[in-house]
Amino acid sequence: MMKPFLAALLVAAAASGQSPRIAVKVDARIELMAVTEILADYGWTGLLARPDTSYHRDVDAWFAPFKNHAAVTRFAELARHGYTFDGPAGTMVCLSAPPELKQEGSDEECNAARAGGAASLAAWLEQLRDFYRVSDFDAFFRAHAGFYAMMEEATRKNLVRDYAADLESYYGIRQASYTIVPAPLLVGNFGRRHQRADGRSDVYGILGVTGNAYGVPQFGTVETLRELVWHEFGHSFVNPEVNRLGAGLEKSQKLLAPIAAKMRQMAYSDWRTVVIEHVDRAVTVRLAFRELGEAAGQRVLDREKASSFAYVEALAERLQEYEQNRDRYPTFGAFAPRLLAVFDELAARDLPADFYDIPLTGTINSVLSAGKAIYVVPTGEADGEAQRKIADYVKTIRDRFNAASEMVTDEQALARDLSAYCVIAYGTLSGNKWLAKYRAAIPAVAALDAAKDPGPLRLIATLSNPQNPKLGAIAFTATDAAAVPGINSLFAGPTSYVIGKGNDVLSAGDYQRKDGRWVLK
Ligand SMILES: [Zn+2]
Repeated sequence: MMKPFLAALLVAAAASGQSPRIAVKVDARIELMAVTEILADYGWTGLLARPDTSYHRDVDAWFAPFKNHAAVTRFAELARHGYTFDGPAGTMVCLSAPPELKQEGSDEECNAARAGGAASLAAWLEQLRDFYRVSDFDAFFRAHAGFYAMMEEATRKNLVRDYAADLESYYGIRQASYTIVPAPLLVGNFGRRHQRADGRSDVYGILGVTGNAYGVPQFGTVETLRELVWHEFGHSFVNPEVNRLGAGLEKSQKLLAPIAAKMRQMAYSDWRTVVIEHVDRAVTVRLAFRELGEAAGQRVLDREKASSFAYVEALAERLQEYEQNRDRYPTFGAFAPRLLAVFDELAARDLPADFYDIPLTGTINSVLSAGKAIYVVPTGEADGEAQRKIADYVKTIRDRFNAASEMVTDEQALARDLSAYCVIAYGTLSGNKWLAKYRAAIPAVAALDAAKDPGPLRLIATLSNPQNPKLGAIAFTATDAAAVPGINSLFAGPTSYVIGKGNDVLSAGDYQRKDGRWVLK
C-alpha cells in the first residue's frame, strides 16, 4: 500500500491532464560539454558517438578554430585524471543556463573533486564561459533548433506512458521534475540529479545515441527507453539511500571479487557503486514483473544476470517483502536497511559454484561472451570477388577482436564438432554453406524476409549453437554478398538481431524462449 496522500497526489496529477511529467529537451549545457569533449579528443573513453552524421560535421566545421582553446586543453587534462563518464555531465546539470553557467550546487554535487577540486573546477568553468562566448556557441545551438526538435519529437513518441508515476509510486517519493536529454554526440547514458532546497530533485537522464536511421541519431525504442528511464531516473531514488547507509557495506565487500572484472569493464569499480547498480536494477526488474508481466520481468532479470549483476535476483526477491508491506515501509528509504541486508546474508553464505553462471539470453552480447569464438567464411558465394573480400574482412575482424581464434571455411565447419564454440559465420544465407544449412534455425530471418526496403540489407542475428543449445552462434549476413564486408560497423549487441542498410539500423529486436527454443518476440 502506498500512503493515501501520495496516492491522491498521483491520481490528481494523472487526472489534471497537465503536460507529461517527463520532458524531453536537448540541453545546451550538455551539447557544450560534448563539443568540448570532441575537440579534446575524448574518443579514447569510448563515450563519443561515431562522427558520421551531418550534425557532427557541422560541429567539426564550426568549432575547428577553437581546438586549442584553454577550455579544451584543460578538459583533456582533467579527463586523463579521471574526469570522465558521468563526471562532466554531473557538473553540467548543476550549472545555470549559459552564458552564465554559474555553479548552483555544492562542490560535491557538481563533481568538483573529480575535476581536480573546487578551485580547479571554478577555473575550468571560467574558461568554458569564454569558449562559449568566443566560439559563438549560442548561434550554433540556435542554428540547429530544428534538428534538436526532430530528435526530441521522435524520442517523445517512444515514451508511451508515465514512467515517472511508476517510479514515484514504487519508491514512495516525489521528485521536482524529470527531463530526458538526448545527446546526439555521445554514447552511454547518465542519470544525474540536482537537489533543490526542499529536498526534491530535478532529475536528468542524459541519453547517448543508440544508432542512426538515415543519418538521424536515434535514442532507443519504446522498450529500451522504458528501461533506460526506469534505470537512469531510478538512480535519483536509490543513490541517496545507499550513500546514507554506505558505511555498513564494508561487511559484504568480498562479494565484489567474483564479478569485479566485469564490473570494471562497465566503469563500476568500487563496491558501493556496484551495490547501487544492483539495487537500481533489482527495482527495474520488479517494475517489469509488475507492470509488464511475468515473461517480460523474467527477460529483464535474465539480462541483468547475463551482464554479471549476480545479486539482482536475491534483491528482487527481498523487494517483494517491501511491496507487500507498504504500510510498514511507506518509502523505499524505510526499507533500504532491510534490502541491503541481502548483501550481508549472501556474504555470510558459501555460494554454490554455479551461482555466478550466466544464462544465455539470445542477445548478441550474451552469445559473444559465452564459448570461444570460431569464424566461418563462405565457399559457395556466387560472386567470387565478394567472397574473397568477405574472407579478407573476416580475417581483419578476427585479428582485431579475437586474434587467438580459428578461422575455417563453411565446409570445414560443417565437418567438425563445434559444440564448444560460439560460431560466428559471415556470408549470405545461401553462399555460406553453414548458414544455408541452419538458416531455418535463425529466428530473425523471418524479420529480414518481411522487411520492405529494397536493400541490400544487412542482418546480424543470433541462433542457438546447433550442436549445443547452451551456447550460441551469430550470423553476419546480407541480402547481397557485396554488403557483408564492413558489416561490423552496423551497431549491434544489446538485442538478438539488427537489420540495417549500410550502417543505418532499420530495425532491431529480441527473441524469447518458447519450448526451449528461441523464437522471434
Ligand atoms: Zn546505473
